[in-house]
Amino acid sequence: MLNTKGLELDSQLFGILRRELGRQRHKLEMIASENFVSEAVLACAASVFTNKYAEGYPDRRYYGGCEFADELEILTQARARKLFGAEYANVQPHCGSSANMAAYFSVLKPGDTILGMDLAHGGHLTHGAPVSFSGRLYNCRFYGVRQDTELIDYDQVAEMAETIKPKMIVAGASSYPRIIDFAKFREVADRCGAFLLVDMAHFAGLVAAGLYPSPIPFAEIVTTTTHKTLRGPRGGLILCRKKYGKAIDDQVFPGLQGGPLMHIIAGKAMALGEALEPDFIDYQRQILKNTDRLAIRLADSGFRLVSGGTDTHLLLIDLRGTGLTGQVAQTALDLAGITANKNAVPFEKERFTVASGLRLGTAALTSRGLVEADIDDVSEFIIEALRHTEDEGRLKKIGHRVEEFSQRFPLYPNLMS
Ligand code: PLP
Repeated sequence: MLNTKGLELDSQLFGILRRELGRQRHKLEMIASENFVSEAVLACAASVFTNKYAEGYPDRRYYGGCEFADELEILTQARARKLFGAEYANVQPHCGSSANMAAYFSVLKPGDTILGMDLAHGGHLTHGAPVSFSGRLYNCRFYGVRQDTELIDYDQVAEMAETIKPKMIVAGASSYPRIIDFAKFREVADRCGAFLLVDMAHFAGLVAAGLYPSPIPFAEIVTTTTHKTLRGPRGGLILCRKKYGKAIDDQVFPGLQGGPLMHIIAGKAMALGEALEPDFIDYQRQILKNTDRLAIRLADSGFRLVSGGTDTHLLLIDLRGTGLTGQVAQTALDLAGITANKNAVPFEKERFTVASGLRLGTAALTSRGLVEADIDDVSEFIIEALRHTEDEGRLKKIGHRVEEFSQRFPLYPNLMS
């Protein structure tokens, strides 16, 4: 399935694909929202299901020839429900943002109030940022972290909820390195009669492995992407209590999507199947060990980590006081063969395009087989690069060492070879 027959006839496109594969192979991928899927997931995403229109839902399609699409979608839903212990699953959202959109549409009306996490404190754009559909359609208010601990300020969540009486509270984040207390959010939501939506996009894999508390018992609706720690193809997934299932289905299709991406749903089925295997727990455990080791090495070298460390697959370096910005750090690391992203830190003064933080994650490196001793080497590359951001020659030399190092962890060795 992974053969690239015919592709070589289009040398321009083939070249681009080869170069991207080379980039993934030769650099160290530390963007916390990325991962490397298995070859089996890759094969599903490249399968003949890309050809199939299947608007609707199993046994309720608008096209003929959907008997195997039905089988596939039913299987994927069942695996999603089983993995997360959920009553209901919609596996069709094309991405995490559209999963959130469908979830909001299913229980909110335009103008309703949402209480979500501030983007600068770790929230996601779809949790109410003015530039996103959420900020444009709803009255969005934000909670954040405490300045002293950099942990979610649950008192602020409770006080704001009491005052503004949101219709929905959104918990979940893109750059919060700590465990979120879903029981506290539930308590607050109950007190003000709000829905609780948990967006577990980042930590879904950890939840699946039982290494992060499950939001399922606490939230009416849980959304996620499938491509981060869950290690599936790019896509979205909605889990909910049964009574919200129909409303959510209607908002995904025909509400905001047409035909589902059945090849991607095949990839989701494969990834969910992999996540149901016992070794997925070992994988997630290794992610935690690796992030922890990275946190220790960075802190030992004088870097300040937001909240003092991490409980998850990611950490956030606060670069204020180092003379660096997130943008400078990202560019230097890129030259050194390490791919990461600048990120706002709480109580940030810089523009988002510059940012004072650097977010690092280990899910992708762990998929390549790196363990703690290898993370020691990776930490050294990072620390050296951050100490010599203006020395292009030295950064490039680190890049050569990174390329050599990364060859110890082959990525898709049979692909395009
Ligand atoms: N929710 C959270 C918490 C995220 O971090 C992200 C993406 O990074 C999304 C939703 C959106 O996912 P997508 O990029 O698939 O739309």
